[in-house]
Amino acid sequence: MKTSFQDKVAIITGASSGIGSGVSRAMAKEGATVIINYPSPKTKDMADAVLAEILEAGGKAITYQADVSKEDQVQQMFRDVVDQFGTLHILVNNAGLQKDSSFADMTLDQWNFVLGVNLTGQFLCAREAVREFKRRGMQPEISTALGKIVCVSSVHEVIPWAGHANYAASKGGVLMMMKTISQELAPLKIRVNNIGPGAIKTPINTEAWATPEAEKKLLTLIPYKRVGVVDDIGAAAVWLASDESDYVNGKTLFV
Ligand code: NAD
Repeated sequence: MKTSFQDKVAIITGASSGIGSGVSRAMAKEGATVIINYPSPKTKDMADAVLAEILEAGGKAITYQADVSKEDQVQQMFRDVVDQFGTLHILVNNAGLQKDSSFADMTLDQWNFVLGVNLTGQFLCAREAVREFKRRGMQPEISTALGKIVCVSSVHEVIPWAGHANYAASKGGVLMMMKTISQELAPLKIRVNNIGPGAIKTPINTEAWATPEAEKKLLTLIPYKRVGVVDDIGAAAVWLASDESDYVNGKTLFV
């Protein structure tokens, strides 16, 4: 069993903020070379800040702009990563967003935008990762698996969420995509699992925890009496992407 992340290359999508930045820091700390994906020039500064933090701590990383909902950009990102680093070992499918609306008022654009990033984006990245794992072949000195994919889903992959039909549908879709491809790819020794975060303090849900009143209200739903932080997800992602979880496949780890 190989527990070290040295010599492993990991793409983390949507890594310029929130959970993706936490997962990037955690994997870099373990020794992985991390690709900090971000979607547009607007988020470059934030991606650069994550990069600077990792490099300062002695880690290895680069930033890479690509919109995960665009096939050509995703394919270019994987090509460039393989050209620069030789291959890829880990994909963390994290990029995601919300465009909330009551159901009757939801526009097709709001629906397509959320499904495009949260579900199609995960499909496009997972497909390119699997193609690269298969091309590269097994490296027993690096890992017992051909590759690992960790999809960041949500508790809303199974819990309905009124006012967020597009988001909940996208996460339910991620659940069945993950389960299906984990079954299909297991014979190739590719493992695919989800992390289903509960409430984690990030920019996606600031209004739910930014004031003491809001946080107090949120805590009424959390028996453990603290709101999660991105490092909680970073630690879970490291475990799921390591050989320590070698017999875990097709599962959601709710955190
Ligand atoms: P966040 O807004 O900080 O992170 C989302 C990231 O995705 C951002 O960095 C954003 O730039 C990126 N992104 C958006 N569109 C993109 C695109 N087209 N291509 C590439 N990147 C894109 O919020 P977060 O909470 O860190 O969210 C990360 C993931 O965690 C999401 O999938 C979200 O649904 C999931 N999640 C978060 C929570 C929580 O409580 N924070 C709970 C459950 C699930």
